[in-house]
Amino acid sequence: MIKGIAASNGIGIGKAFILKTKVDNSLYTGKKISASDVENELRRFKEAVEETDKHYDLVIEKAKGVLNDSEQQVFHAYKMMLKDPIFSDMVTGAIKNDSFCVEWAVISSAEQLKQMFLQLNDDYMKQRAEDVSNISKSLLLSLTGNTATDLSEILEDSIIIAEDLSPADTVSMNKQYVKGFAVEKGGETSHTAIMARTMEIPALVGCEKKIFDIKNGDLLIVDGEKGILIVNPTPDELDEYLDKQQEYLKAIEKIKLLKDEPSVTLDGKNVHLVGNIANPEEAIEILAKGGDGIGLFRTEFLYLNRVDLPTEEDQFLAYKMVADAMGIRPCIIRTLDIGGDKKSALLNLPNEDNPFLGYRAIRICLKEKEIFKTQLRAILRASTFGNLKIMFPMISSLEELIAAKQILKEAMSELDERKIPYNEDIQVGIMIEVPSAAIAADILAQEADFFSIGTNDLCQYTLAVDRMNEHVSSLYNPLNIGVLRLIKMIIDAGHAHGIQVGMCGEMASNPKYTRLLLGLGLDEFSMVPASIPYVKQAVREINYNNAVDVAKTALSFNETEKIRKHLKEEA
Ligand code: PEP
Ligand code: MG
Repeated sequence: MIKGIAASNGIGIGKAFILKTKVDNSLYTGKKISASDVENELRRFKEAVEETDKHYDLVIEKAKGVLNDSEQQVFHAYKMMLKDPIFSDMVTGAIKNDSFCVEWAVISSAEQLKQMFLQLNDDYMKQRAEDVSNISKSLLLSLTGNTATDLSEILEDSIIIAEDLSPADTVSMNKQYVKGFAVEKGGETSHTAIMARTMEIPALVGCEKKIFDIKNGDLLIVDGEKGILIVNPTPDELDEYLDKQQEYLKAIEKIKLLKDEPSVTLDGKNVHLVGNIANPEEAIEILAKGGDGIGLFRTEFLYLNRVDLPTEEDQFLAYKMVADAMGIRPCIIRTLDIGGDKKSALLNLPNEDNPFLGYRAIRICLKEKEIFKTQLRAILRASTFGNLKIMFPMISSLEELIAAKQILKEAMSELDERKIPYNEDIQVGIMIEVPSAAIAADILAQEADFFSIGTNDLCQYTLAVDRMNEHVSSLYNPLNIGVLRLIKMIIDAGHAHGIQVGMCGEMASNPKYTRLLLGLGLDEFSMVPASIPYVKQAVREINYNNAVDVAKTALSFNETEKIRKHLKEEA
């Protein structure tokens, strides 16, 4: 049995599919070959290029209908670069003239070429640097006998084992056959974990290193509730889990029946339940699960897996699609929140030791004004088609909010010049996810139309616990009294200024916390669509007046464990 952090509920049973995405470069650093091996190394290079080229063809074929044109272009660009004579001359030269093994010839040539591209003062060329890195990784996988695997190739019930999964990996997953995954990296609120919950696939993150001892084809069981992975179960264990799986599926079917029931407490208080999405297609999923709007559209996903930045028109179409799907229901569009564990090759982000404390979200947007304005114009244009609201992430001071609103004004003026209509009264809110913003919420409330509490980041910054770091995940607890006091302060400050306070961090999606948050006065709960029925069920079993008492008592405790026990007793 291997332990991990339970990231997405359910029981997954299938054969192990080891996704090898990385080769340890240090094994080949500076490795030399003898003169008699040169021909063999040149042949290996030629074969690896052919194999990788075929692999990209396969990916392009499978990407049709799944990825859009721009996303597919990435792989066409890889194919071109793979055959580029400059690159192949560099590699063959390093084998023939410097007697380097083919692996090191590929690694060092790719690095040289990458540096050449980065020095050119041209954004297009800088993006090619990222292509070179990816091609080099694919070639190395091929050279080490691990053909770059594409998750869309999975055609039997499987559990994926990997270091981590990128958004590109998950997009190409064949959901019919992927029954679960277990990855080494990440915590409960890492984006891989959030993605698993969105796709309703049982998953573990932050697993023990032992997962890499698993062999392709081993039979695995992912228990997404207990946070364990069972390797090659005994027949009894398998039977037990098949029963559990059936029970779980039955419970899900039952809970789905709540879809059309109102989200209202026993004593008649309506509670607004909305969804978090990462791409426009997911909007309909919110309605299917009984949600009533969008509390968070993570628009950064429009910027991933592309060769170029999304244009105003690309984005307009995405936001309009969301507005059309949701009708009069509110849709909060969060502006670009790239950085942290969401990287994009398009923005030339620096390599940082502490990316979560670095150049991310609004900090990038305030510097890259044109990129920001393009997005704002697109949201504004779509605002005439529905009830769109704008939300800025990672605000840490009033100055940042004022600067962002100033750029929004400029975007409005540009549309005025082009005589394009938009909703002039569009609401502009902020995420409260940085402790300084929570503490100064009363000041920020004077300039914001609404707040949405981002507990994923608020917890990591308040508790000084990296949300991606599995070694400190036990310290990451939203019930810490310091975090709860901040949540209370934010809600009270918002209400004192007459603005709505929602929550779009993962805390809002956990029915264990619904009573507490409701009692603290939260107006809106936003979560992955799959969680909506569970939170609705919790809401319907709560008495609001009792929730207020429960929250009050919770805040009087001085230890996390006492708060947890208190909530459990009251449930
Ligand atoms: C949060 O920080 O709580 C949040 C919702 O934003 P993200 O998870 O995208 O950082
Ligand atoms: Mg955040």
